[in-house]
Amino acid sequence: MIPFNIPPKIGNELNYIEQAIQSDRLCGDGQFSKKCEAWIEENFNTAKALLTPSCTASLELAAILIDIKEGDEVIMPSYTFVSTANAFVLRGAKIIFIDVRSDTMNMDESLIEAAITSKTRAIVPVHYAGVACEMDTILSIAEKYGLWVIEDAAQGVMSTYKGQALGTIGHIGCYSFHETKNYSSGGEGGAILINDPKLVTRAEIIREKGTNRSQFLHGIVDKYTWQDVGSSFLPSELQAAYLYAQLESANMINDSRLSLWHNYYNELSKILQPEQLPHIPNHLKHNAHMFYIKLASSEVRAKFISFMKAQNIITPFHYIPLHSSPAGEQFGKFIGKDCHTSTESSKLVRLPLYLEMSKVQQGVVIKAVKEFFFEE
Ligand SMILES: *Cc1c(COP(=O)(O)O)cnc(C)c1O
Repeated sequence: MIPFNIPPKIGNELNYIEQAIQSDRLCGDGQFSKKCEAWIEENFNTAKALLTPSCTASLELAAILIDIKEGDEVIMPSYTFVSTANAFVLRGAKIIFIDVRSDTMNMDESLIEAAITSKTRAIVPVHYAGVACEMDTILSIAEKYGLWVIEDAAQGVMSTYKGQALGTIGHIGCYSFHETKNYSSGGEGGAILINDPKLVTRAEIIREKGTNRSQFLHGIVDKYTWQDVGSSFLPSELQAAYLYAQLESANMINDSRLSLWHNYYNELSKILQPEQLPHIPNHLKHNAHMFYIKLASSEVRAKFISFMKAQNIITPFHYIPLHSSPAGEQFGKFIGKDCHTSTESSKLVRLPLYLEMSKVQQGVVIKAVKEFFFEE
């Protein structure tokens, strides 16, 4: 069987987890958390990186940090994971969904301005498949209207836009280290990148149950107390230890994934049209998070998925557009015309791509895809 994903393993994870256990200090913000955060800050250039239990938690922390309140509006694509919306709905916001571009499946930056009202507080670009949204346009609109930009960079670790790491371009960036992403912290995990230095102190307080424990640990205050709203947004040292092994090998992981990605692209561009394949704009570098293809219709896609399954190859699709889901109808509203979100998402299917994938296994997948199109 060729699965869709195998969680990444490097080999050093157990060694670091052992070290964490031996240190007799397993709660959050220990040695391995610090190492991971320093690694992110040095390699990606952000004011402050903080590990979190998940990208979902990072988005929730972000929504608290920018003071999202009942009735506020937040603009995002409808083609995304539920957490992008839920984090703001939990604070009482109304979600304003806009259409995606058919080439990258990212929010169509030309539609943002028309969706802005006096209630709009934030724009949430989602870097789908690790391919950057048009951040220059998004930032200039945000500046013009005084809006926050929260990047959902769950899939974008190690990708760049005009040389800047995804997650470091807006005011706040959110990473996922879930086992389906390129780098894992042992199944579940995430980070929040605080790019606006003015937000750092409060982010640390909200993350530590609303206390200034972080200042206490740094010797800035001599006791810590309840300062603000907050929750527990710290992962354990076991997760950080697992993650550190992966971050140390980030370039190797990235290169391996890109090599698989390019192999898919080269082989499948021989039989598919450019609009059926991922589009990577020139001014950015992606991280090979995902290789998807687009079929002629959702019916053809269903046939494709069962054809592949019959050969023991798992090819899932994802994201029923949020605006057409029950909670999306309740908490959100689609502004403008749904030209691409519903049609493009109904044609898209993802091919297996994981660090351990051998060229032989990939060859089996490519051969099966080609067979499907020859039979069609
Ligand atoms: C995976 C993902 C999330 C959620 O990440 P978790 O770490 O599982 O909470 C959020 N947004 C997008 C776009 C994702 O792909």
